[in-house]
Amino acid sequence: MIIRNVTVLDGQSATPLADAEVVVSDGRFSAVRSSADARPAADEGPVLDARGGYLVPGLWESHTHLGGYAFSKPENERAAYISQLLTDYLDVGVTSVVDLGGPLDVELAARDYRAKAADAAAELFFAGPVFTGIEGWPVLDDPKRAPIARQTDNADTAYRQALELADQVDFIKCIYDGEPGAPDKLPLDALKAIVAAAHEKGKNVLVHVHERIDVEEAVAAGADGIEHAFQPQEPSSTAEARDIAALLAETNTYYCPTLVTWEQLAYNGDAGYLQQLVEGGFATQADLPQITSRPIYGHEFPRHSARDSRIRLDYAMRTLALMHDAGVKITAGSDVAMLMPTPPVALLRELHLLAKAGLPLPAVLAAGTRHSAEKIGQQTGTITVGSVADALLLDADPHTDVAHLIDRSHHVGTLRAGRPSWEEA
Ligand SMILES: [Zn+2]
Repeated sequence: MIIRNVTVLDGQSATPLADAEVVVSDGRFSAVRSSADARPAADEGPVLDARGGYLVPGLWESHTHLGGYAFSKPENERAAYISQLLTDYLDVGVTSVVDLGGPLDVELAARDYRAKAADAAAELFFAGPVFTGIEGWPVLDDPKRAPIARQTDNADTAYRQALELADQVDFIKCIYDGEPGAPDKLPLDALKAIVAAAHEKGKNVLVHVHERIDVEEAVAAGADGIEHAFQPQEPSSTAEARDIAALLAETNTYYCPTLVTWEQLAYNGDAGYLQQLVEGGFATQADLPQITSRPIYGHEFPRHSARDSRIRLDYAMRTLALMHDAGVKITAGSDVAMLMPTPPVALLRELHLLAKAGLPLPAVLAAGTRHSAEKIGQQTGTITVGSVADALLLDADPHTDVAHLIDRSHHVGTLRAGRPSWEEA
């Protein structure tokens, strides 16, 4: 298949390729060239004239918990439910979804279910259970939550478990959060052992952190990505952000601030916030009763007060652009969708917040595509020869306004592993 007369923002080079044609074969991009070098289409299948359009890599949701969303469903319906969510993601332009922790059996069943499904859906990558301390986050004292984690206080056990898990999952996730030395915090030597095991198996490790010391120790242990904006000790100064930016840039460690997590935790129960979502096109008035009737609505999240979450959000919003300027590779992930009409909307809101924080729009696009792929070791997320043919076709330039990327009225269609939505529509 050929897409012609399109402007390609390949997710890699700074300058768009105007008046281009993109060739897809066997689910991958096989040529990206200027129309001046166009060839007859006979051997390359159907042609789509996309004049006036912009082709960008398919979006990535690089931090979510589909198993968590499926938790309320009966066990035998969870795989089908996750499969439906992956279809819903594709409907908003998200072609890859990265699950940062959930029960392994549910994730494996969901992948199996997808492999047999006929409809198109976003690709699923998952961590399976996360490594944490004894009764650490997110298990705490709830035995029902045990399948989402491997709780450990011992480096040798952690190493063996990580070796075994790495064969079944796409990457490894650790929670490194809590008082140093407390039993519910993963010991630092266990974190190092897990990273060593994962890297031996060629798998990346993403580490959920709370504050600066967690970031520094996780990076020293060899983490490939840091999950969540850190809680600042001195919110009035940008010094911590500058130090952490220098560290992440120097070690080429990815950074996923999950701004929308802190925003939802900070404004849970605030009717004005829901109105903002409506005004921004993230929800409709008709969605609100469904959102406000959720059990979590207006209730503080365990261990995360609204006040601390607001400090965390405000600080990240204020310092993200300087972290980007320092060379940090930012990734886009939402983590929770507790106040969003649906989980896919949370990623769109995250991209909106990244732009609002002052990231240049090409960096917002990189966060939502290539950087999110690279963070889990996938060399894709670009419109370049050999990359999986996942793309989003827009009717306006996403480098001039983030709304052109996230507002569904600008979405013309998607390509998912070379399969175009416009042929089905
Ligand atoms: Zn998470």
